[in-house]
Amino acid sequence: MSTATAALSGPTGSVQQPAEIRVYNTLTKTKELLQPINPPRIGMYLCGPTVYAESHIGHMVGPVIFDTIKRFLRYSGYQVTWVVNITDVDDKLIAKSRERKIPMSQIAVEMTADYLANLRELGVNQIDFLPRATDHMEQIVDFIRKLQEKGFAYEADGDVFFEVAKDPHYGQLSNRSIDSMQGDGGEAAGKKRAAGDFALWKSARAGEPAWDSPWGQGRPGWHIECSAMSHAILGETFDIHGGGLDLMFPHHENERAQSGCCHGAPMVKYWMHNGLMRAGDKGKVGGKSDREADTDDVVGKISRSRGAGGLSDLIRRQTGERIRFFLLRTHYRSTIVYGEDGLDEAGTSLAAFYRFFERFAEVTGQSFYELPAPETRDQGAIDPRGDEALHECVALRDRFLAAMDDDFNTALAISTLFDLLRAANRHLDKHDLTAASSTESPAVETLRVIGGILRDLTAVLGLFRKPPLDQTTDRSDAELTSRLMQVLIDLRKDARDKKDFATGDRIRDRLAEIGVALLDKKEGTLWERKS
Ligand SMILES: [Zn+2]
Repeated sequence: MSTATAALSGPTGSVQQPAEIRVYNTLTKTKELLQPINPPRIGMYLCGPTVYAESHIGHMVGPVIFDTIKRFLRYSGYQVTWVVNITDVDDKLIAKSRERKIPMSQIAVEMTADYLANLRELGVNQIDFLPRATDHMEQIVDFIRKLQEKGFAYEADGDVFFEVAKDPHYGQLSNRSIDSMQGDGGEAAGKKRAAGDFALWKSARAGEPAWDSPWGQGRPGWHIECSAMSHAILGETFDIHGGGLDLMFPHHENERAQSGCCHGAPMVKYWMHNGLMRAGDKGKVGGKSDREADTDDVVGKISRSRGAGGLSDLIRRQTGERIRFFLLRTHYRSTIVYGEDGLDEAGTSLAAFYRFFERFAEVTGQSFYELPAPETRDQGAIDPRGDEALHECVALRDRFLAAMDDDFNTALAISTLFDLLRAANRHLDKHDLTAASSTESPAVETLRVIGGILRDLTAVLGLFRKPPLDQTTDRSDAELTSRLMQVLIDLRKDARDKKDFATGDRIRDRLAEIGVALLDKKEGTLWERKS
């Protein structure tokens, strides 16, 4: 099967195996060929949330992108270990705990659960490790001790700081000179040797959660958590470190300094930064991915603009699939312009796919959602067998893969999916395929293969995991479904009252096709889903 792709050299050009994947490295400011340190293994780390409040759509940008990147790398033959950390000790958590008069750990547990539930709804299910800072205190303290022993850190009155001037590579990632560094001021400012030095360990104030250390009771700074946890799971040097552009300085610059100085080896081979989110009508940047993000920022406000509540309500209104699709329609390095009308548009686009999947099921007798998704590129390669429609679709598959090979260009990949959808619909129309067509006919067989290609590629993007009716079952809009069903039941009753039994039957039959049965009872018409 795999020879078919290699043999194809159509006008769109074809991708030769093994795939050459290019990644834009923020450190070198160039697209580089992805050459993992220990192929086929790839270690990947993404800075996760500070769990002090419910997440908003801005927090989902990085996870959706890196979930997709992991899917594509796996599909391309790599074994990826993906780590997303949870910051569960921090000033904001402490403030929240005082405000709500409950322990910090309880807030962290609640907000982590909220974050994970949202990730699930958006189809982010590729994370291998979700380490929490409070579970890694020993590694964090060890890390700081080592930095102090090597002369990169100094203690001042129970606090420990990293001495930026000792690291000759400091500032390379974010392109800054040490002279331009501004410290964060505050109480600690007077203890530092230079304004740009940053805290590794903070001494405890009365009533704050604290851990034992060689410098007394205290808690870690934010940056050291990522250095210690990525080291604990992925080792001294790993392949990919991701995060929002807002994290490049100071957070990633500081992680890089801590890890590089502690181990005498570079922390990361490829630094990847995703663009931030901008509200469509305000022109302000929001949706930051780190603890600087505030649920009151622009995107947070806008994501709630059409109703109360945060992201979970947005998911109820729009579905996780729409949000995922919307986020992937922009290339990850570009700014995502957010507005709920963009999600509505995503819904319209997805509906065109859902309609094709229904026609596909009618004609082939097979559910699109149950088609097996190939696990690798080779498995997904198709022999077009001289079939014109398949030839076009195989060329489009190559174009999709070439887009993903070029720094994970999901925007271009998705536009190719639309071309595939058009080709599939053209094929259906040209051969006038309907439920009555013979499932043995060559045209139906071709349709099956085209459906298989769509299954293959959309699975790489984490789309169409389940039918729209099954989406977001626990947080789902059960209420909306029941109201929509009532609309259909009323329309059917109106038709029957006017003796238009054909329309009445059509409504019932179409619902039956999607697994919904209508039951006419004395008290009215009820409905139920057939499993
Ligand atoms: Zn981090």
